[in-house]
Amino acid sequence: MKLYSTNNHNLSVDFKTAVFNSLPADKGLYMPIILPQFNKEMLESWDKKTLPQIAFDVAYTLLNEAITATDLQEIIDDAINFEAPLVKLADDTFVLELFHGPSLAFKDFGGRFMSRIMAHFLKNEDKEIRILVATSGDTGGAVALGFLNVLGIKVSILYPKGKVSAIQELQLTTNGNNIEAIEIDGTFDDCQRLVKQAFLDDELNAHLNLTSANSINISRLIPQMFYYANTWARLNADFENVVFVTPSGNFGNIAAGMIANKMGLPVKQFIAATNSNDIVPQYFKTGVYTAKPSVTTLANAMDVGDPSNFVRILDLYDNDIFALKTKLISLAYTDEEIKKAIATVYENQNYVMCPHTATGYLAVNEVSKTPQKNTVYVILATAHPCKFPDVFEELNIKIEEPTQVEIMKQKSQHKILMANSFDDFKAHLLA
Ligand SMILES: *Cc1c(COP(=O)(O)O)cnc(C)c1O
Repeated sequence: MKLYSTNNHNLSVDFKTAVFNSLPADKGLYMPIILPQFNKEMLESWDKKTLPQIAFDVAYTLLNEAITATDLQEIIDDAINFEAPLVKLADDTFVLELFHGPSLAFKDFGGRFMSRIMAHFLKNEDKEIRILVATSGDTGGAVALGFLNVLGIKVSILYPKGKVSAIQELQLTTNGNNIEAIEIDGTFDDCQRLVKQAFLDDELNAHLNLTSANSINISRLIPQMFYYANTWARLNADFENVVFVTPSGNFGNIAAGMIANKMGLPVKQFIAATNSNDIVPQYFKTGVYTAKPSVTTLANAMDVGDPSNFVRILDLYDNDIFALKTKLISLAYTDEEIKKAIATVYENQNYVMCPHTATGYLAVNEVSKTPQKNTVYVILATAHPCKFPDVFEELNIKIEEPTQVEIMKQKSQHKILMANSFDDFKAHLLA
């Protein structure tokens, strides 16, 4: 697979380069030059295959020139070692639970696959890589747990003091070994600024092999295609039309599904549900794309005011908004609506949704007012509700914590407290 930049269609880099650079120098995003197609035989074989087997088919279709089948098989078996079950909410509505990995969010697919891909490329190189990542909560956990004990890679995670939930903090601070958690006395934007500045610093780059692990990395995107393919395989015998409803912030998750669709996965429609950060829904309404400062919501992993991966989606449709609108709908919901949806689903179905997932439920409610024949809606449940406890206390809903959390609570926490100062951060990295 060779990749171009969304800002320069003449560029051509190999997969390894795209993985370690994350971003092309022109600030576009990497996209595959050719999107190979899943053939009919492959699609028909999937109803008898497991999630890791389908994952292999999807990844190998893209990466067969970059990685041998044996190595890719090993990476996938190691990375995709948890389930993505479908839970039935109604005859035509399912929840796809993507939170059964170590950090209890869909980002485990990306975090675990990316770490093993990087380790694979570093195997025969005698150098240590330092990953820097700023997190508002969920990315950090998936990256920390994804890279834990991966040889040749050290990870520094910056997170804003007092702004992540208790479970998110445990996921960052109870690892030790090659993972360090740095609590910055500042906001998420400050953390992001420190990381960006580090990547631009000559002295740091002379001493360390710095790499990013942010959500625009192509190796985080590819594994997110696996569960769209697997879910289609589970449902296609019973339903002609599969509609995926993806709670969206930076639009990476839904971009992966839409790339899979362009590679031949039969998907009738995608719906990107957002919180009050309604940049894309507004763009679809007005035809004008206006980035805005993000506003804080209950679904805070989706508080994004300029969704980076949306350019990938536009690029898939040659920047033709009319063509794009035939495949993608985007709808926004307020905190009040999110709260009400969580309460309704709990009352009627005895099922607890996290605030992000609730936006997906709201979108299904809105679009299924006009019933469609032979159509099934799949809401992607992006995180376990225990990661976002505040709203549930208020709603008087009790949440059972999975065993991973019990185990983490027994461990000791290690974090480095740091002022919001680049000099301090730099001195720490050089020490
Ligand atoms: C990251 C995240 C999202 C948003 O995913 P994008 O790929 O950025 O659109 C939604 N829900 C949860 C729980 C997340 O952690």
